[in-house]
This record gives sequence, structure tokens and C-alpha cells, in this order.
Amino acid sequence: MAKNIGLLALQGAFREHGNAMRALGCDVSELRQKKHLAGIDAMIIPGGESTAIGKLLVDLDMLDTVREMIREGLPVYGSCAGLILLCKTIIGSEQPRLGLLDAAVRRNAFGRQVDSFECNLPVPVLGDAPFPAVFIRAPLIESAGPEVDVLAEVEMGGQNKPVAVRQGNILATSFHPELTDDMRFHRYFLDMI
Ligand code: GLN
Repeated sequence: MAKNIGLLALQGAFREHGNAMRALGCDVSELRQKKHLAGIDAMIIPGGESTAIGKLLVDLDMLDTVREMIREGLPVYGSCAGLILLCKTIIGSEQPRLGLLDAAVRRNAFGRQVDSFECNLPVPVLGDAPFPAVFIRAPLIESAGPEVDVLAEVEMGGQNKPVAVRQGNILATSFHPELTDDMRFHRYFLDMI
């Protein structure tokens, strides 16, 4: 049976994730209210504005339920703002979050001069070919706990910083695979479900 992917559709760039998962044979349910959370096999939290998505999750009384579902093992993939919302620590911010990924993240970490950029990122779990990673006002993981597997890193200020990570049922990237034709991250996520 086709997997039913719940796509958080409150704010941001969610449609492209839906297209990618449909192309891989999944059903996609857009999540806009608490009642939509029933019956999903996995969840995607898209890029957008993490403060706005977090506030809407609170206002719609969805934050605690989503956190509990992920804690109980629901596979989740967060890109960009989605990654931020998954992290335990958001440096310098008290904004609402799910707080399940044992990592400290810095928002807008690449500064204004390099607001957006694309690079060929080595991601060993996806094979030899580098991944075309699109970063848009992207966050960067400054530190991560021992349960977090680093799937890809970039060099910043002479140090390697994670930009794609996995912790059990949680996958997160600070870039946007849904904006490219390369389906390897979405396929990797499908394999987690
Ligand atoms: N800068 C945004 C935030 O802090 C994330 C950007 C994105 O999702 N493309 O929420």
C-alpha cells in the first residue's frame, strides 16, 4: 500500500516536497489542522519561516501532538525551517519548537552576503555523486549530541559543521532537496518509513 506522507502545510515551501513524494509513489496529505494528523505514516516539515510555523503549531494546538507522535517513532523529515523546529536548542531564540533533535542550531548562519547559494555537497549515504544542495537563509548546526549521525557537512570558519543529520526516526537538512530534480534525499527518507 502507498505510504501516506503528512506534509505540514501551514506556511512555507511545502508543495515541492509533496510533488517529490508523489513522484516516488506516495500519497500526500496536507496537514493544516490537528485532525489531519490521524492516519499518516510519516511527516515532512518544510522550509519557510520557523518562527511563523512554530507559532501556528501552537495556535492550532498541534505542537504537543506532533512532538508526541515523533517521540513515539513517526518518521519525520525537516528541511531548513523544519530542521530548526526539530532542534532542542535554537541559539539566541525562545521560539516554539518540537525540540527532539539533540542539536544546537544557528538560524541564518551564512549571513546576508550569502543569503542563498548552491553547492555540490558530498553525502556519502547517498552514493558517490555529490548532492546539489540549495541553501536559502539556511541554518547551521553548531553542535550535536552523540546520537546524531552527521550525513553531510560544510566548512565554516575553518570548522566542519553539519548540514544534514539523522537521529533515529528524525532526518533533517539545512538545505532544500525539494527544489532540485535529485530525489535521493526523499528516497532515503522513504526508506526510513
Ligand atoms: N531563515 C529561516 C528561519 O529561520 C529558514 C529559511 C528557510 O527555511 N529557507 O526560519
